[in-house]
Amino acid sequence: MGAASGACITPGGTVAAGAERSLQDPLLRSEYDSRSLSALPCTDIDLDDLRAITRCAEAGVRHEFEHDCRCGDTVRFSDADLREDAPSVVFACRSCSLCIRVLYTTYRAAGPAEG
Ligand SMILES: [Zn+2]
Repeated sequence: MGAASGACITPGGTVAAGAERSLQDPLLRSEYDSRSLSALPCTDIDLDDLRAITRCAEAGVRHEFEHDCRCGDTVRFSDADLREDAPSVVFACRSCSLCIRVLYTTYRAAGPAEG
C-alpha cells in the first residue's frame, strides 16, 4: 500500500512544484514596484532587439523574451508581463540589479492580431 500511494503522490508533487515556481514572478514584480524604479539607472531597450522565443504551453502559445545582461546573466520575461496600459515595463536583472526598460509600443502596434 505504501508503495502504491507513493506512486500517486509523485505526479501531484510535480504539479505543485510548477505552481510554486510560477508564483515567484508576481512576488518579484511587486517587490520591484515597491521600490522607486525611476531612481535606478535604466537602459531603454526595444522589444524588437530582444531574443524572442515561442513556446507552446497548456494555455496556448506563449512568447518569451531574453536579454543578455552585461553581467552575463539573462533577463527573461514573457508577453504576459507586458502591461496593456503602459508603453513600457521595467525588469531588473537578478544578478546585478541593472534595470532595463522594455519598450513595446511598436510590438503592440504590429504584434499578434489576437483579441
Ligand atoms: Zn545583470
